[in-house]
Amino acid sequence: MSKRTHVPSEEARLMTKRTCMSSKEQHFMGKRTQTPSEEECLTTGRICTHGEEEHFVNKQVHIPSKEAYFVSERICTPSKEIHSASKRQKCESDLMARLSGIVEESIVDGPGLRFVVFFQGCPHRCRGCHNPETHDFCKGYKKPVSKIMKDLFKNPLLSGLTLSGGEPFAQAESAYMLAKYAHDMSLDTITYTGFLFEELLEKFSQIPFCAKLLRETDTLIDGPFILEKRTLSLRFRGSKNQRIIDPKLSLERGVVVEKDF
Ligand code: SF4
Repeated sequence: MSKRTHVPSEEARLMTKRTCMSSKEQHFMGKRTQTPSEEECLTTGRICTHGEEEHFVNKQVHIPSKEAYFVSERICTPSKEIHSASKRQKCESDLMARLSGIVEESIVDGPGLRFVVFFQGCPHRCRGCHNPETHDFCKGYKKPVSKIMKDLFKNPLLSGLTLSGGEPFAQAESAYMLAKYAHDMSLDTITYTGFLFEELLEKFSQIPFCAKLLRETDTLIDGPFILEKRTLSLRFRGSKNQRIIDPKLSLERGVVVEKDF
């Protein structure tokens, strides 16, 4: 049953800056015109889906559930109008990632010697998941993306960056920043996701930085882990349904283009 019968108009919300609490949906202080679905909160781990430049953590009125914990957060979240350019630059460097862990040198998470970032928080909850400790969006620890970049920069022997989890697309902004930085360092990037590539396409507008992360990913390993399809014979994958995809070609051609290492 709806807890509230009156749904304020957009104008009323703008004037009062109150939150509309109609059923599950929550609006964000007149800054948002599209109502996030529960699924969106769960799958993205983000509540706010403003433009890429504006994340209003401090204005956030939605108290996230444990599941929908706001995982990709900034210490300071200004809009261009609020802060000067110099202050903004500092704030951007404070983008935080919530991690389960980092392996600085791995030979099992893709070809070559790889720096692996395990994001904390996963909405998929696959049965038989090997990393169940990464599911909880409230656990793990926070680390500034800039510090992860510094660690990445330190090792000249690396051949690539692997973004794993957890669900990297639940923290797409941090993942994108790291992938972009890896490319600047001439490293290749692999991103694991429990979503299907087709699902990610559908979520382009719902997940901030989803498209950017895909474009900064050289290899996408997609799909949930399915226990019944578990295999030890496929490299870098846990179950047969998971695909190794070239996301850039796939985006270009509009169909999934698989590849191999
Ligand atoms: S997507 Fe990966 S981390 Fe998430 S539950 Fe499935 S196997 Fe585990």
